[in-house]
Amino acid sequence: MTTPQTPAAAQPLLVADGLRKTYHLPGKDTLVAANDVSFTLPTGGSIGIVGESGSGKTTVARMLVGLVRPDAGTVRVDGRDRTAGRRRGRGERLARAREIQMVFQDPYLSLDPRLTARQCLATSLSLHDAAGAQGRIEELLDRVGLGSREAAARPHEMSGGQQQRLAIARALAVNPRVLVLDEAVAALDVSIQSQILRLLVDIRQDTGLALVFISHDLAVVQHVTDETVVMRRGTVVEQGPTERLLTAPENAYTRALLAAVPRRGWDPAAAVRDRGAAPAGGRRSGKAQED
Ligand code: ADP
Ligand code: MG
Repeated sequence: MTTPQTPAAAQPLLVADGLRKTYHLPGKDTLVAANDVSFTLPTGGSIGIVGESGSGKTTVARMLVGLVRPDAGTVRVDGRDRTAGRRRGRGERLARAREIQMVFQDPYLSLDPRLTARQCLATSLSLHDAAGAQGRIEELLDRVGLGSREAAARPHEMSGGQQQRLAIARALAVNPRVLVLDEAVAALDVSIQSQILRLLVDIRQDTGLALVFISHDLAVVQHVTDETVVMRRGTVVEQGPTERLLTAPENAYTRALLAAVPRRGWDPAAAVRDRGAAPAGGRRSGKAQED
């Protein structure tokens, strides 16, 4: 492990610098999914990336966690280059996994259907730290509010909210410094959305975990982030303190996104409900009773 060049306090935890990703479409067309995306995240900070569907949010998320190799730009954690694509040993890949974890929109797709919640966490812990696993499993279940009944359940026996709690617990198992949440509450019912958001706020407060909160919905990120990046067609159109963006947006697109979000004192559950149509990805139906 290399030593950071400057003391940890003097540099941000996560630095995305000039990230760019181009996709080649059938024929001669290319599509710039993300262009010159830069932001910093302090230790224990919380940043939102918002924009409509197709604006490049997931592409940025995948570059942050090393699933997509940028055409240009770097991702640094504690001053160490963590950009995907260079030759990496297993040790270095594990080190990055320990630093940045990701939670996806649909937990069901990322959970092994054969494993109970407890087995899922045990598996994840064994990759990194076999010692003391049993105590850690209980601690993680407790941390995300899963009881003994859910601990013994397999994903199909759990509600969407419970599945996402498990996905969060699994991400936390390696004690990451940063959690990237890509539309992590988009598929959940509104009351469950606010439960999961509150859970993440608590975890951040208690553990100093930093969050990258990605959503097409400004209403979802406005109460849980300090800073927000607004993306449109792969480009950052505005970024700054969330508070300032909400009260004095400079960009017309930010204002349009804001127009869809009710004012201060609003009830998030009512706001999402009033909007009516299901967000991209659709809502779950026919699932077990929500938690
Ligand atoms: P968002 O998460 O904001 O909806 P994405 O990052 O998923 O946006 O996509 C940004 C753009 O890049 C979209 O136009 C999408 O179709 C395109 N894109 C994403 N991934 C790929 C891929 N693997 N191949 C080709 N085009 C892609
Ligand atoms: Mg996306």
